[in-house]
Amino acid sequence: MKIDLKNLTIEKAHESLTKGDFTVTELVTAYLDVIKEKNKEINAYLEVYGDVLIQAKHAEEIFQNGTATLMTGIPIALKDNMLFEGHIASASSKILENYKATYDSGIVKQLKNEGVVFLGRTNMDEFAMGSSTETSAYGNTKNPLDITRVPGGSSGGPVAAVAMDGALVALGSDTGGSIRQPAAFCGLVGLKPTYGAVSRFGIISMGSSLDQVGPFGKTVRDAEILFNAINAFDKNDSTSIKMEDRIKPSPLKKKIGVPRSFLSTDGTDRDILKNFEESCKKLEEAGYEIVDVSLPLIKYSLAVYYIICPAEVSSNLARYDGIKYGLSSEEQKLYDVYTKSRGKGFGKEVRRRVLLGTFILSHGYFDAYYNKAVKVKEEIKKELTKAFEEVDAIITPTSPFMPFKFGEKLNNPISMYLSDLFTVPANIAGIPAISIPSGKNEEGLPFGLHIMAPFLREDILFTIGKDFERLI
Ligand code: GLN
Repeated sequence: MKIDLKNLTIEKAHESLTKGDFTVTELVTAYLDVIKEKNKEINAYLEVYGDVLIQAKHAEEIFQNGTATLMTGIPIALKDNMLFEGHIASASSKILENYKATYDSGIVKQLKNEGVVFLGRTNMDEFAMGSSTETSAYGNTKNPLDITRVPGGSSGGPVAAVAMDGALVALGSDTGGSIRQPAAFCGLVGLKPTYGAVSRFGIISMGSSLDQVGPFGKTVRDAEILFNAINAFDKNDSTSIKMEDRIKPSPLKKKIGVPRSFLSTDGTDRDILKNFEESCKKLEEAGYEIVDVSLPLIKYSLAVYYIICPAEVSSNLARYDGIKYGLSSEEQKLYDVYTKSRGKGFGKEVRRRVLLGTFILSHGYFDAYYNKAVKVKEEIKKELTKAFEEVDAIITPTSPFMPFKFGEKLNNPISMYLSDLFTVPANIAGIPAISIPSGKNEEGLPFGLHIMAPFLREDILFTIGKDFERLI
């Protein structure tokens, strides 16, 4: 039987696996065939795991036992910064080229228990720094919708894997927009959960106070199912939220806020603003009231991000010293081992952030930059919390511009950094946000609608998302 991968969802796959229309091995083989055919060109996967068929057999046993869940046997792509015991995780960096994980990350452990099949690890911007996957040490990933364009980043590999039908769903990580912006660029749904909802244990850190793992899928429901499977307390992550402290869903006001003055920020494509207005009309058709909200501080989110994030990067990446992990340059003096290993192992963008972060944290500048940024972060959080007293959600476009061509922004870091203008506030405030496809332009390139909800209210994103998706 030929499986229609293009239209497959988790629920459809589960039904077919339960009825015996196809087996997990057949499903996984269908994906492996697509990867064989398309990955040379797209470069979504850096490695297909050698034990995929063994994992499939294990999932089949779970079906035979009668203990299968919705996620059992579902083929999924991992981002190259997620530890899966015995497998390489390189964060798409030369410094971790041959680094093999010695334990499972929290999310891998949870999904393993359900018999998920991990197909392989996928490309990303080096250590998740970037918006185009061009900073990877292992080549560009192409956008499957138009191979002359970037897939977005930093989770370009996972999103391209799903968009080329090389995985049913995937996991990415998002520090400033790295799930939602690539989802918008490749026409998929991407969710960044509440900070603390999903375990960060065993995820190669970038900016620890901002990082969250989240799902990619073709539909809101697929993203919801995968999120539910990883939405759990983990004692190994000190910022993980206990289950009893998680908020229970409550009825919606059916009111959505638009921060008008933030949208008129220069640099947002006209087509994107037009598509956004159309999305607002669709939400009105779906029965939501659209109101203006005033958020004068969120425009500072990007500036705050580029203080806090590099500071945390410089501290997190200090562990790659040529001694503990990965690449080690053979030198006479210890100091040279440190500097040469880091010099050879890190790419340009990573070095830029380490330098920036080290400067920000240095004596005399710590108060002026880091502490000030943390204060503004708290104010932005308060401003958003207040706005959510009036509205269920706040919407903007996901990206200020369309998927761009390779090389267009790589040598202009500021213009690359602007990619996350609309996505970064959710990381700063620790709140959940989702990107949902909202149509295509004349060239067939996708638009994305970005929705933010209050702390721990992913349910609101799924409700509004499904209502919106029906009208697209
Ligand atoms: N593009 C942003 C950056 O380069 C965000 C990356 C991310 O979310 N990992 O920092």
